[in-house]
Amino acid sequence: MVFLAGAGGAREVEGNLRGRPLHFFRYGEEHAALAGIDLDAKPGKATWRVGVVDARGAPRKASGTIAIRSRKFPVQRLTLAKPMVDLSPEAERRAATEAARLRTLYATVAPERLWHGRFARPLGGDNPGEAFGSRRIINGRPRMPHSGVDFAAERGAPVVAANRGRVALIGDFFFAGRLVVLDHGLGLYTLYFHLDRVDVDEGTLVERGDSIGTVGATGRATGPHLHWGAQLGPARVDPLGLLTLAAED
Ligand SMILES: [Zn+2]
Repeated sequence: MVFLAGAGGAREVEGNLRGRPLHFFRYGEEHAALAGIDLDAKPGKATWRVGVVDARGAPRKASGTIAIRSRKFPVQRLTLAKPMVDLSPEAERRAATEAARLRTLYATVAPERLWHGRFARPLGGDNPGEAFGSRRIINGRPRMPHSGVDFAAERGAPVVAANRGRVALIGDFFFAGRLVVLDHGLGLYTLYFHLDRVDVDEGTLVERGDSIGTVGATGRATGPHLHWGAQLGPARVDPLGLLTLAAED
């Protein structure tokens, strides 16, 4: 979370980080934005820039760099049924279409922030979840890194919205199974995959803690669990990071 101080009365605030827009929102008397660094981002320096039109209409600018540090991700070896790994051309096409649909959705930035305050865990209990970003070796071959956190749970366990948002997508996808994607506004999305049942309709506004469905094992899953993900535009970010956001507003 990026906090901008000293520009409380500004008429306009905009900025970017690594060339990607920062979507500022009013935060108390000041402004803030969420900045997402993709899990495959290369460590190193990243440039930021902020521009403000102050209360008298005068432009002000600031810029600088931040350091993107490396993070170690665990390696996970999995054995899965062949048709779930070596896809038929038909399954391949289906998975590609579904991935494109998600990318298009994540590129859509709703103009208003819907989330507020703390984010909640999507599942009851205190299961810490299986690490975000693990490098997966499936049936002996390296595959895409795991872009969410998996919570093992019993089939039928209730899944709740992590924060207020609009139900942007409901689907039954090849990999993700039955899924719900919540749009929290300003480019932030949370993802709930492999559901057994979905209890919400597309377009509905849900509040933090509202039930959205139940844990299942639909799609590519070795057993009942919730895959919880978060996207900030195209960046796949650690959803557990949302739980520790210092957001009081
Ligand atoms: Zn997962």
